Amino acid sequence: MTKFSISAELESFLPSTTEDEKKALRLSLQAEGCLQPLTVWAEEQVLVDGHNRYRICVDEGIPFTVTERNFPGLEAVKEWMLLQQLCRRNLSDNHRRWCLGQLYERRKGEKGNKTGANQHTKSLEDSPQNGDKPKGRVVDQIAAETGTSKNTVERSATFTRTVESLAKVYGASFRDLCLNTNKFTDGSLKALLELHEKDADAAAGIATIASSMGRTEIGERIAAELDEWAATQVEDEPIAPPAPAVVAAAPKASPSLPAQLSAAPVVPSRPPVAPIDQPEQPARKPAPPSPPMITEIELVDGKKGFIQSRPGYRSTFNETNAMVDWAKWTWNPITGCHHGCEYCYARDIALSERMKSVYPTGFEPTFHPERLQAPANTTARNIYGQKDKNVFVCSMADLFGKWVPLEWIQQVMDAMIANPQWTYLCLTKFPQRLKEINDLYGGFPDHVWVGTSIDNQARVGLAERCFKEIDAKVKWLSCEPLIVPLRFEDLTGFNWVVIGGQSAQNGLPSFMPPLEWVGHVYDVAKRDGCKVFCKTENMPQMTREVAW
Ligand code: SF4
Repeated sequence: MTKFSISAELESFLPSTTEDEKKALRLSLQAEGCLQPLTVWAEEQVLVDGHNRYRICVDEGIPFTVTERNFPGLEAVKEWMLLQQLCRRNLSDNHRRWCLGQLYERRKGEKGNKTGANQHTKSLEDSPQNGDKPKGRVVDQIAAETGTSKNTVERSATFTRTVESLAKVYGASFRDLCLNTNKFTDGSLKALLELHEKDADAAAGIATIASSMGRTEIGERIAAELDEWAATQVEDEPIAPPAPAVVAAAPKASPSLPAQLSAAPVVPSRPPVAPIDQPEQPARKPAPPSPPMITEIELVDGKKGFIQSRPGYRSTFNETNAMVDWAKWTWNPITGCHHGCEYCYARDIALSERMKSVYPTGFEPTFHPERLQAPANTTARNIYGQKDKNVFVCSMADLFGKWVPLEWIQQVMDAMIANPQWTYLCLTKFPQRLKEINDLYGGFPDHVWVGTSIDNQARVGLAERCFKEIDAKVKWLSCEPLIVPLRFEDLTGFNWVVIGGQSAQNGLPSFMPPLEWVGHVYDVAKRDGCKVFCKTENMPQMTREVAW
């Protein structure tokens, strides 16, 4: 059991999210549960990621899990928090610039002061007019890491310094205003800061701003904006008021990834223990979401299926966690599966007591029509390149299972085709249905990548034949978990082969496939021109004994 505390410094380190964002997060947690574990600084047992989720989960009694992460010190924690923030969906442009600028300032501070003193704090106090331009190496490094340009990092650093200087005058809520809206242009902020430096009294008095600026257009605009903002402030707000410390207890997240795909969102494996101290409760709880409307239908295999809809619910993708290194998102317009794999993590999640409200139809095939809007509702970010675009489709189902009604598949296909800003990764154990859909659509568009998962010899021949006739930009074979020896004849239908062992889960022990099994798949894959990706989490001998 993990006990952790809340640090006021870390909780207020990042700017507040808007009320709308908090509402959306609450609705999402109510509807789908807390799929992503909170992150705790292992050495200090302090929460570093998921403050909003934590408070909502405690408030709503939603189970959550905790994962621990090692950091060498507080600065490393803050830098990691900024990078996490940069990966978030729905981050406003200014918020993103502020994070980039903060990252730059902190790195620059580190360079200037190896002892770790607060050089970054000094940097933030500097005026952007001081000609303190970002230094090349740090700028280039951040630009490369975050997939932005050097100019963007430089402009972001200037923006951040300006905002922080003004936040010292007008308070933390002014920072939130700048970051969460586009009310002020960079020119307005710069002019306001210049005015403050020349005439602090005039700049502090909102009513006098316009006249102090000679009633220029920019002065009028700033005065009007500040006036509007001031009207929303109940009283003068201190900068970053410290929050009371909270101590909580929660279970550790399951240390192992689900074996079959290792790409599912990490979900609670055990219900959390109630917090020792409850955080401050909001005065009124928002109304709970209305229960979903569920319609039962008969599927082609004669079994039950369901259509579960929540009219008006604004669905978005779910973010995967840091352990999933090849997809940023999961999207489940269909849940439930009839394959019955013994090692299935998805079935365990859907049938667990704690997820009952999220999966009222259990693991029966279920279509969620409102989730078709998620590709359009989710904001794309380009921080880590391709990974940010990758969406794992139906991590809780087999989209191409033989029981899935054609019209469900067509609606998912149509949503993918209509939203080419994402790269969709679809994995099935039923390649013949994938081939059927391939023929219906005349192949898959370049942004839809398709794969098949093979866990026994009986699936091999069909997969090899079907994939040779499937037209897709990326086709991959997943031999994960490799729990029996597989003999392949022809892998020319694939571009990629993924090989992995099995994590301990569902009462099953972890399994590390013998080198000979891996070697055969590797040899055929390389002979047929595939790239091979060996997952080493459950196969540590691969890194030691195999040259690739
Ligand atoms: S194919 Fe179906 S039963 Fe098998 S692991 Fe995937 S979701 Fe679970």
